[in-house]
Amino acid sequence: MRVAVLSDIHSNLQALDAVLSSIGTVDAVWHLGDVVGYGPEPDGVVARLREVRAIGVKGNHDDAVCGGESIAGFNPDAAVAAEWTRARVDAATSDYLAALPEALTPEGTDFTLVHGSPRDPLGEYLDSTNAAAENLAFLQTRHCLIGHTHVPLVFRERRGHVEALAVDPESRLVLDGRRALLNPGSVGQPRDGDPTASYLVLDTTAGYATWQRVAYDIGA
Ligand code: ZN
Repeated sequence: MRVAVLSDIHSNLQALDAVLSSIGTVDAVWHLGDVVGYGPEPDGVVARLREVRAIGVKGNHDDAVCGGESIAGFNPDAAVAAEWTRARVDAATSDYLAALPEALTPEGTDFTLVHGSPRDPLGEYLDSTNAAAENLAFLQTRHCLIGHTHVPLVFRERRGHVEALAVDPESRLVLDGRRALLNPGSVGQPRDGDPTASYLVLDTTAGYATWQRVAYDIGA
């Protein structure tokens, strides 16, 4: 099965459409939350995710927009964006966001999807090997797909420890049986100094993940 994994789209329909055009044929689209927040087109992004039958999980921005407590931890800009989004979205978007689960294991797979981390799906930024190692105890599957930091990265077990692996565009990770947490980076608001949209494609049959970048019309 070939699966596109998208995270932190953040109401950026230009970026999402560029990614969907570049992916080619996939059997499924999985998203890791923060579908909305910051960007201008929350309804358009949710409609597009429905069109491609994406499945996914709730992020802290999705939670804030549908009335959750995550907004309490936001910086002022994020809070303004969440309030703007909440006032603007239609009922179909708000129902979609409210119904997203905090964690998801697609049937028949060895992957858990969360926005932040296995132990704190809405809140934790997984950005250190120590935190990644602690989170393995909360993981029920071999692989975990995480977002939230907006930085593409892998944490993988190695001889009783956890190592961090930086990923570049076109990087390929062989899923060799070791437990691993994979971050696709952000579609709509990258924070690694590269403005292009970041995502990953899984081949669950062959057992590898490939990271991709695609440019989009930022001015639009
Ligand atoms: Zn985000």
